[in-house]
Amino acid sequence: MVVGIPGVGKSSLLNRAVELARQTGIRADCVIYGTVMLEEARKLGINDRDQIRKLPLEEQRRLQLLAAERISLLDASLLFIDTHAFVRTPNGYLPGLPGPVMERMKATHLVVVEARPREVMERRARDTGRARDESTEEQVAREMEITRAAMISLSVERGLPLIIIENQHGKLEEACRQLLKALDLKVEA
Ligand code: AMP
Ligand code: MG
Repeated sequence: MVVGIPGVGKSSLLNRAVELARQTGIRADCVIYGTVMLEEARKLGINDRDQIRKLPLEEQRRLQLLAAERISLLDASLLFIDTHAFVRTPNGYLPGLPGPVMERMKATHLVVVEARPREVMERRARDTGRARDESTEEQVAREMEITRAAMISLSVERGLPLIIIENQHGKLEEACRQLLKALDLKVEA
């Protein structure tokens, strides 16, 4: 399970990790939790992934569970799940990986992707395809703290190893190798 606040560069990291893992012959894949939720949300006429977090909490929880069930059926030797420890909703932070979700997943590792708040802000500004919520640098730092805290407690609760990856600008390759190494995958230098 890979989490990180929007703009830490999770998707780029995971795309590259999948590519490298496949080069070693591993059946690796990445699934974006939000995409699976959106497929379910489309049945309600929601067509924008950035509208999901504005839905009533009960509806978000329902979609969240449906997504967990669908994802648990996927088959791969190495499956990265790109998701969030928290989703910022108008009604507070909704946990992305509560008990009922974790119970449906066969998670082996928890990964937190972090980056410098300034770099997160810059990535968000460049990503014009998304309806990101406004944030200050302080808020970004706080959200990252909340994410880390949530994953620490989830790691303890579930007994799953926690991997913290620093995704610095221009050092994607390094972050990627760090991640694969923690998963015991040997990739070519
Ligand atoms: P993303 O493309 O990763 O930004 O995900 C799009 C949206 O999917 C997020 O803004 C959330 O509304 C929703 N989402 C993703 N993962 C979760 C999760 N684990 N629990 C609840 N909502 C989620
Ligand atoms: Mg993403």
